[in-house]
Amino acid sequence: MSWVKGLKLQKSDFSLSVPEWQILDQGVTALVGPSGAGKSTLFRTLLGLEACEFSWTWGGMDLAKIPAPQRNIGVVFQTLDLFPHMTAKENILFAAKARNLSSSETEERLRQLERSLEMQRFITRSAQELSGGEKQRVALARAMISKPRILFLDEPFSALDVRLRSEA
Ligand code: ADP
Ligand code: MG
Repeated sequence: MSWVKGLKLQKSDFSLSVPEWQILDQGVTALVGPSGAGKSTLFRTLLGLEACEFSWTWGGMDLAKIPAPQRNIGVVFQTLDLFPHMTAKENILFAAKARNLSSSETEERLRQLERSLEMQRFITRSAQELSGGEKQRVALARAMISKPRILFLDEPFSALDVRLRSEA
């Protein structure tokens, strides 16, 4: 069980306040709200991309006190943010390197993700040549290569039509 507590962020004309939010260890916790409510800003804050005071207990530690790169949080933003001049594989390896994964760990994990996300066909292609769905799979693999303790998916259903979204 994980608790985010006492999060208050003030931007020029926007303030975000999360007195208490529970994220379950298992399964999926959904954060739902209208456009502009502050969902992406909350993710950015928890990732350490916005400076503000809060506590985030997780398995006996306060993740908010751990330097951002060591929190091991995976994230897929709606914009995907792949490096366009790199191949799909290079994009994923870049994340593995940033997280200091050993080369044997990286190789094994990459093989698993290549299979589970069915990326074999396009893994050596340049990211800018990939279809939207292929890019999304690469962004997911990049977020998952280091086995993050939590995976943030920002608007994961935005590309689905309304019927599919309600079924999902
Ligand atoms: P959501 O993801 O729920 O749609 P956001 O977190 O993106 O909402 O945005 C919340 C509010 O913060 C919006 O009013 C938005 O205009 C504002 N906002 C987003 N990014 C910035 C920024 N870099 N500087 C100032 N305000 C921002
Ligand atoms: Mg958003």
